[in-house]
Amino acid sequence: MSRRAALSLALASAAFAGAASISPSTASAATSSSSATAPSLVLTEQEWRKRLTPEEFDVMRGYGTEKPFSSPLVGEKRSGVFVCKGCGSKLFSSRDKYDAGTGWPSFSAVVSPEAVVESEDARFGLIRTAVNCFACGSHLGHVFADGPEETTGLRYCINGIALKFEPGPEA
Ligand code: FE
Repeated sequence: MSRRAALSLALASAAFAGAASISPSTASAATSSSSATAPSLVLTEQEWRKRLTPEEFDVMRGYGTEKPFSSPLVGEKRSGVFVCKGCGSKLFSSRDKYDAGTGWPSFSAVVSPEAVVESEDARFGLIRTAVNCFACGSHLGHVFADGPEETTGLRYCINGIALKFEPGPEA
């Protein structure tokens, strides 16, 4: 099993159990600031509840889904970067944003493959691919294979409430 797959599994298990820690090996990683290979923000459930609003917590730590068209980021068309509301990691670029018509911010790509962890999500009787922030484990949304053919063919369907938009140069 690859390290990435193992991490995905650990992350999924942690999410199911409601545990804040992603894996036992991340305890030491929490103190190393810029590792690209280990999660860098590990908080307890109580700490997450302090950091996030109840609505943010429901989506980002509880695998909830915001109502379609509820996020102002659906219509965001400026140049900039979308970062994780949980930890500030750069996740998506305005360059890859497009209007999928679903009511959720949609992107054809992640800013870098290392920015997220993708794992199988079998909730609600559907097999989907969940997308979580690599650095803090927060749930972002799902990725589907019905994106624009002229780019990647992927559709990252993301909860706007899990993102913060920073206007400026594209990532
Ligand atoms: Fe994050």
